Amino acid sequence: MSDIHANLAALEAVWQHASSQTEKIEETWVLGDIVDYGPQPNQVVDYLRHLPNLSVVKGNHEAMVLSEISLRYINPMILEVTRWTSSQLTKESAQFLRNLPPTIQHYDVTLCHASPRDPMWEYVTSVQIAQENLDHFTTSGCVVGHTHMPFALGFAESNQGVVTRPKDGDNVGLNFNRWFINPGSVGQPRDQDPRASYALLHIDTQHNQSTKVEFHRADYDIRATQELMLDAGIPPFFIYRLAQGH
Ligand code: ZN
Repeated sequence: MSDIHANLAALEAVWQHASSQTEKIEETWVLGDIVDYGPQPNQVVDYLRHLPNLSVVKGNHEAMVLSEISLRYINPMILEVTRWTSSQLTKESAQFLRNLPPTIQHYDVTLCHASPRDPMWEYVTSVQIAQENLDHFTTSGCVVGHTHMPFALGFAESNQGVVTRPKDGDNVGLNFNRWFINPGSVGQPRDQDPRASYALLHIDTQHNQSTKVEFHRADYDIRATQELMLDAGIPPFFIYRLAQGH
């Protein structure tokens, strides 16, 4: 999962959907931007902490709400939500977010929010950017978020990149030398489909090899999240876009 953005209804819907798709979810991987934009930062942190074998990396929005990076060049409308989120965080939530690492290596996969080269900010949106990142991680695969768009990209022997823009229910085999996956965004999708987005990664742990990834979308009560955002005084732009999926 990635980019939950303090949207508890979306997170709950994803977990329920994922649990219905597979006998057992062995591990939970979260690729940052847990908070900000949405109305329930603490509730989302608490919910995540109870999920099985949790691995989480830090996103740019965690760094922003904790004032770990300069906010000087941040768009004023985003800054307004970021300040609201900072004011809401409990000590425990802030502590949890502060301790998150920028990258994690697990099995044959590197986890990061944006890209291995720049875990906070770079958008992996093209074959070229992905290729430039290959020297910045050592595992076969890399899972990223940040763009809020589901994406799969594999490099074969010839180093030719094959891109997939997966839709709900798509399966992508991972018989590539190197590959990138973006599961899309749980709490604020931007690919014109407002349903919560996530992916199930299948790993043959005996051979330390990822075999395939399934992309899914889960319906959730968008209205409920929008009403909480309205109550919190979050700018209308962020409320409106949830229903549009952009
Ligand atoms: Zn994000």
